[in-house]
Amino acid sequence: MTIKDKFAAVQEAFGALKMLGRDPSTLQFDRILSPTEGVMDDRAMLLFGTNNYLGLTFDKACIRAANEATSRMGTGTTGSRVANGTYGTHNALEERVARFYGMRHAMVFSTGYLANLGTITGLVGRGDHLLIDADSHASIYDACRMSGAEIIRFRHNNPEDLAKKLKRLDGKTGDRLIITEGIYSMLGDVAPLSEIAAVKREAADNTYLLVDEAHSLGVLGENGRGKCEADGVMDDCDFIVGTFSKSIGTIGGYCVSDMEGFEALRSISRPYMFTASLSPGVAASALQAFDEIERKPELRRRLWDNASHLHGGLKALGFQLGADVSPVIAVRCPSKELAVVFWNALMDAGVYTNIAIPPATPNAISLLRVSVSAAHTRSQIETALDVFAVVGAQLGLIEATDTPHHSRPSLRIISGGASRAEVAIPPQVQPEEASAAAKP
Ligand code: PMP
Repeated sequence: MTIKDKFAAVQEAFGALKMLGRDPSTLQFDRILSPTEGVMDDRAMLLFGTNNYLGLTFDKACIRAANEATSRMGTGTTGSRVANGTYGTHNALEERVARFYGMRHAMVFSTGYLANLGTITGLVGRGDHLLIDADSHASIYDACRMSGAEIIRFRHNNPEDLAKKLKRLDGKTGDRLIITEGIYSMLGDVAPLSEIAAVKREAADNTYLLVDEAHSLGVLGENGRGKCEADGVMDDCDFIVGTFSKSIGTIGGYCVSDMEGFEALRSISRPYMFTASLSPGVAASALQAFDEIERKPELRRRLWDNASHLHGGLKALGFQLGADVSPVIAVRCPSKELAVVFWNALMDAGVYTNIAIPPATPNAISLLRVSVSAAHTRSQIETALDVFAVVGAQLGLIEATDTPHHSRPSLRIISGGASRAEVAIPPQVQPEEASAAAKP
């Protein structure tokens, strides 16, 4: 396929969806007012489509730390960690991350994507075997392909299938690296890590476990260390990868490990060696965010309170949701066209969510990804539920009710939004068909 053919194919595929409303890839926030409010096209938006689980993007101490480091050391390092790009803040951040997990080693990368690339390609290569959950994030898939190791997918969140696939490797040489996530980013489902760790314990000695805690850092576990901590299997996790772009509220990634010799990764990991390091301000605010997570367990409690409230409210309205209650709530849609219309209509009414359609989703499902923050107020969640109730009913996704879910006489849309959620449904998307398809 030529470059021009490729561009034309992509334009055609997306063209039909763009006819239904906004283009998700070019959407822009004009202003961000707080972790839960932004402005887009002069319209105030409640943000229910971020990964800002603890609301730390506006934390005063984190901003102060970022400003202070930027004033002292400048806006960027202009180099990689192994050349001119290691500053005191990087080493301090690595020490902080290692201490947070109670592990000996931590390596910091410039994004979470690079943390997976840099760790996985550094650990395994040709002749080794990767056993990855089928619903793994793109960064895990890309890293696996780049590593040259054999890629074996096991069924999503299915430890029995993992055990079966591991057994088939009996007698073969090469290390085995199992890769799973703590909370999955699209459906918000939680990995059965106790069972996965048990499978690993039963396997050959050269079997290792890597857990990507991108969406579970600061969210799960008594100290916010993630699903490994929540399941009491920290000792079984040889490598924990994570990102600073979600709960930590900035950008960057990391890998922690207690393994002897781990530091050698710095000299073999190309995504660590051949890209510029984190700017001092980013590193300083990430470091401060780990202090905040430890100091403020109430953020985690509030996050879960909000997650249960929103999940419960959407379920009561009749939406089809992912199975687990978590800060990521997947609202399923019967078609990608309807998902696009739904997503646009919510935004017209002042509620921003994420749209996820094939090929970015597992099993080709279409969904709106609704995410919660500890910073959401109860009233913001109630407003979002009211909007979901009206728009969902107009699109035939749920049964219409006379009153909003908590009996408000009329919708209170935030300032700048439409006074009432009026949904213009294009002819391509028939509510009757949608309604029929949406019923379980
Ligand atoms: N791992 C997982 C599971 C993710 O969901 C993401 C991002 N959504 C990443 C890694 C990459 O993180 P970042 O965006 O910080 O590069």
